Formats: sequence, structure tokens, C-alpha cells
Amino acid sequence: RVDADVDRTEDVDLGVDDVELSVPIVAVVGRPNVGKSTLVNRILGRRQAVVEDVAGVTRDRVAYDAEWTGRHFTVVDTGGWLPDAKERAKAIATQAEIATQTADVVLFVVDATIPPTADDEAAVKMLRRSGRPVILVANKVDNARIEGEISSLWGLGLGEPFPISALHGRGAGDLLDKILAALPEAKPAVPREAGPRRIALVGRPNVGKSSLLNKLAKEERAVVDSVAGTTVDPVDSLVDFGGETWHLVDTAGLRKRVSHASGTEYYASLRTNAAIEAAEVAIVLLDASEVISEQDQRIITMVIESGRALVVAFNKWDLVDEDRRHQLGKEIERELRRIPWSIKVNVSALTGRAVDKLAPALNKALENWERRVPTGQLNQWLTALVQQTPHPIRGGRAPRVLFATQAGVSPPKFVLFTTGVLDPGYVRFVERKLREEFDFLGTPIHITVKPRK
Ligand code: GDP
Ligand code: GDP
Repeated sequence: RVDADVDRTEDVDLGVDDVELSVPIVAVVGRPNVGKSTLVNRILGRRQAVVEDVAGVTRDRVAYDAEWTGRHFTVVDTGGWLPDAKERAKAIATQAEIATQTADVVLFVVDATIPPTADDEAAVKMLRRSGRPVILVANKVDNARIEGEISSLWGLGLGEPFPISALHGRGAGDLLDKILAALPEAKPAVPREAGPRRIALVGRPNVGKSSLLNKLAKEERAVVDSVAGTTVDPVDSLVDFGGETWHLVDTAGLRKRVSHASGTEYYASLRTNAAIEAAEVAIVLLDASEVISEQDQRIITMVIESGRALVVAFNKWDLVDEDRRHQLGKEIERELRRIPWSIKVNVSALTGRAVDKLAPALNKALENWERRVPTGQLNQWLTALVQQTPHPIRGGRAPRVLFATQAGVSPPKFVLFTTGVLDPGYVRFVERKLREEFDFLGTPIHITVKPRK
């Protein structure tokens, strides 16, 4: 059962065209027993184990991270076909979907020791329609004698057969070179800016931002002004706390304790937004002695929308009595239910209570903000999840999730390749389970669904 808690829609990104995959996808297609799994294992160099076939259970498609001479790509093992003809046609169609929707290059694997079958030919037809580049892999070419016999494979109409022995490794290196040559240019990954972590300390007027900054700065050394190799805006501060240096964005107003009358609320809100955008993680400071307000909510929304890591700090905890604590608990449940994943700390800038909890909370949120889940692990988990809880049937059909990749970090971005549009409720279900399985406390995550075109 998919439980739709409708308040969290902002985490779910149903757009299909706003995501760029960071690594290309290579799909391995072919009928059962031609050696697809053996080839995938060969490509992975046995660094990751492919799940063994279990008798009577269809092996499902699984994706893995692969690397050859420094280039990274995702290999999708499209799995086996079932023996009965009807199921087989469906399985061929599924491979076609994967190949046409997602792959940058398709490896079509045949067993070179036997003549092409009708199934091979059916698969070739659909691959041709896909318009994707296909490499015809003639597998089980264990020796030169077999290699001499592969010329009949030209008849498939996919061009020159590429002989390999997945089992013994013969020709595997050359095949990998050929795969890389067929892949689109790699986009260089943008490295994280070096230097201290950038934090925005934000919250509406009077929640205690400047008090907290002063408290933090006093915990260890005073506010430092420069760190070698780091450029800091004049309005920023470098502050030591929790045993490290942090880059606090836009602290000009906080340090000088400017009067709150200066500047309109609109201007203040623009400034808050700019600080969040310039930061990696935001501490949203709330006044625990007061009701969570519209203005607090707007600031939280800014953090979610800019995709920054988030720590929510309830300040003025010294003013919170038993009654207020009870009331606040209910308020959090109601008002902050869209961010169940945020890290919450209860502090007092006045007394210094729990101020030492901030650095670990920030580090935790940042670590999860940058978390990358290995593709194999992600897909093994996802395959089990969608088998256990498939998408609900809509108009007699249910879209299927084919596989997923993590397209980026900061915040983590996932792409689900599917056979159709998914219900927002199902995407939220996948997100919640993803969060349960892998630790994403303190970070928004984006899930994009890529249905069949
Ligand atoms: P899949 O169903 O297409 O994934 O095929 P598998 O990878 O499970 O391989 C099917 C059978 O073919 C297994 O017994 C493999 O050991 C064998 N096999 C795979 N590659 C080769 C090869 O290059 N040479 C030989 N002789 N056998 C192979
Ligand atoms: P800012 O506008 O967010 O920078 O808030 P300030 O730091 O100027 O604090 C506003 C008021 O709240 C000041 O009178 C502070 O002394 C008071 N204040 C700040 N933190 C605390 C706290 O933890 N406990 C209590 N009781 N008062 C606080």
C-alpha cells in the first residue's frame, strides 16, 4: 500500500527534461545463456558481484557502476528471458524499452557457437528501430577456430561482429575500448570549492541569529578573518567552532547587530535567499518560545528549493517549559511534516545549551547531501522494492520501474527509468523507502522520473 502524505510534493520532481545524467549508460541485451552476466562480470572486473541466478526466479535487470581507463559508465544487465513464448515476447519488449529509452550504447550479445535464432532476429529488429548505436558482441569465441566461423553473424545486419570470450577474457579489453569510443563525451565533474564549509545562518528577526553567532565564535577562538587559499566576501566571516573553521555567509548584519528597522522585509528576504544560495548548508533558526510562523516556513521553503542541506535549530530553549515543549511537539508534527528528514537541535544562544551539537549536525547533513549510492546497490534495493510493492494499477495497466541511477549529488538526485508516468504518491513512497535504506538525514533529495518517450 502506498501511503500518500500529500504535503511533501515539493521534494518530488516529476519533470523529465531537467536532468543531465552524469555517466553514460551501456545496456547489455540478448537472449538467455548467451553470456550476458558473464560479460557484465567481466566488464566490472569482478569488483562487484552480480547476483547469482536463483532457479525458478527471473533475474531482473540490474545496473552497476563500471570503469575502464578512467572513464565511468553504468552497465545495465537486462536479465534473462523466460522460456515460454508469450513471456519471452514481453521480455524482449522490456529489453527494447531499456535499450531505446536509456542506453547510450547497446551491447547485443549472441552465442557465436550456434547459429542465430529467431529470437536473436526479433531482438535485432527492435534494436534497429531504437536508432541507438549497437555493438554486436559474438560471445563464447574461446579460440581462433571459433573466430573463423563468426562471419555468418554479418547476416544479422548489425555490422561487424565483435568476437570475445566473456568467460576467459579473450577480446574483453578491445571490446571495452570500442564501448568507450562509442560513448558520448564525458562531462567534467565540477569539483567542490575547496576551503571551509559554507553555512547560512538564517531566521526571522529576533530569533537570536547574532546571539548565536557570538556564542559560536566565543566557543573557541574569536572570529578569524582569513584562511590561506580561501576567498571570503567582505560580508562573510570565518568562524571556528566544533574543532573546525566554517565559512559563514553574509554575517555583516549579524556581527554589527544592525537595527531590525533597517531595510524592508522584502529586502531581508532577498538577502536571506542569497545567503542560502551561496551556502552549502543552512541553519534555520527558530524561536522555540514562539509559534512557528509563516515567515519561518518561507525560509524553510527557500532552503528546500535551493536544494541545500538543512539543520533546524530551535533557539531560546531556556524559555521552553514543560507546557511549551508539549505544544511545540505538536506544532513540529503539523508545521514541519514536509521536512521529516531535517536534523533538529534545541539550543540556547543565551546559556550555550547544546551549541556544541551544531557542528556534528552540520557535518552529518553535509555528508548526506554529498552521498552517492553505488548503482549496483541502488538497483538491487530498488528491484526488491518494486517487486514487493509494485506501482498501483491505473486503467488496467501499471507503469514499471526499470532501473535507477544517481545522476548527481549536493543534493542527491535520482533518475527512475520507467515504462510510464508514475503517481506522485508512488514517487513519494520510493523516496521514503530510499531515505529509510540509505541515510539522507539533513538533505533534500530529488527524484526525476523518465518515462518512455
Ligand atoms: P546470460 O543468461 O546471457 O546472462 O548468460 P550467462 O552469463 O549466465 O552464461 C550462460 C552460460 O554460458 C554459463 O554457463 C557461462 O559460463 C557460459 N559462458 C558465458 N560466456 C562464455 C564464454 O565466453 N565461453 C564459454 N565457453 N562459455 C561461456
Ligand atoms: P537576531 O535578530 O536573529 O539576530 O536576534 P538577536 O541575536 O539580536 O536576539 C534577539 C533577542 O533575543 C535579544 O534580546 C537576545 O538577547 C535574545 N536571545 C537570543 N538568544 C536567546 C536565547 O537563547 N534565550 C533567550 N532567553 N533569549 C535569547
